Amino acid sequence: MESTLKSPISIERAKTSKIEQVDFDNLAFGSVFTDHMLVCDYKNGSWETPQIIPYGPLSLEPSAKIFHYGQSIFEGMKAYKDDQNDIFLFRPSDNHKRLNISASRMSIPEIPENIFMEGLNALLKLEEKWIPQTPGSAMYIRPFIFASGKGFHASPANEYKFMICLAPSGPYFAGKVKVLIEEKYSRSANGGVGYAKAGGNYAGQFYPTQLAVEKGYNQVIWTDDNTHENIEEAGAMNIFVRIGDTLITGPTSDRILDGITRKSVLEIAASKGIKAEVRTLTVTEVVAAAQDGSLKEMFGAGTAAVISPIAAFGFRDVDYDLPELENSYASMFKKHITDIQYNRAEDPYSWRVKI
Ligand SMILES: *Cc1c(COP(=O)(O)O)cnc(C)c1O
Repeated sequence: MESTLKSPISIERAKTSKIEQVDFDNLAFGSVFTDHMLVCDYKNGSWETPQIIPYGPLSLEPSAKIFHYGQSIFEGMKAYKDDQNDIFLFRPSDNHKRLNISASRMSIPEIPENIFMEGLNALLKLEEKWIPQTPGSAMYIRPFIFASGKGFHASPANEYKFMICLAPSGPYFAGKVKVLIEEKYSRSANGGVGYAKAGGNYAGQFYPTQLAVEKGYNQVIWTDDNTHENIEEAGAMNIFVRIGDTLITGPTSDRILDGITRKSVLEIAASKGIKAEVRTLTVTEVVAAAQDGSLKEMFGAGTAAVISPIAAFGFRDVDYDLPELENSYASMFKKHITDIQYNRAEDPYSWRVKI
């Protein structure tokens, strides 16, 4: 790839590698980091050339605006290695576009595509050996931007850092997920920031999720803030419901994040002739379907787990179990998407990008 950056990305190599200490057969999710990270500063009104440096702590002003006003956004993506040691990304330009959608909403300067893509490619090439090959494992990629500029004035910072860290991660087995339909707390609101991957959105979810965990659930199903009558997301994943043979998910909005897994599921459903509806999905309808037996599946969709099947949901102190299906849509979508990601199948959609 010809570089379009003003100057080449500099690389300061780590003195020693931690790779020998890592048990690649028993990786958890996002808790081991590679030897290097990418850092790019925004100063005097523009993004500078990114640098790759050893992974390690940062030094920041206590008055940096990230700490006080939460100007912080992120992305979540993965790199996959096939049997030939070739490395692939999945729809990476969609992550770049969404990072900039989040950036505008949080008054953070947008990151140019060449810095994002060339920075990511250079870091992945350098850390190639760290990309796990164990089935189901992948390199989790965390690009993020935060306000490093100083001052207690409640206004956008004038300095930012764009960074990428890499975390080799094992298969994401969520187990049998039991979820609680939330009627008090909200994740997002009309006119709010729910569609952005803004740090504070997740902080705001922790407390209601903790309350659900104390009641014996794993995760919260978010409903709309106005009526709590419409099903919107499952934790930090988009949600799909199958009633009869129809797949239903809510429309993206201010409140529902435009997930790349979600839209991939919808495109696969269309190409396989599965009836899919993107429309308001009510709690009443889902409870009625659970009662009359037409509710076949519920699952979350997101980069980390790809598809996370839901085994049961709770609503107003009643638990509803979902049936265990032989040929679930959930397992079909998971296989189809991961086969494309790991270069095990044709990619008629051109989602896979070789690096
Ligand atoms: C990241 C995220 C998703 C899933 O998006 P993907 O692009 O599929 O990973 C869904 N909902 C929320 C709230 C998210 O933060």
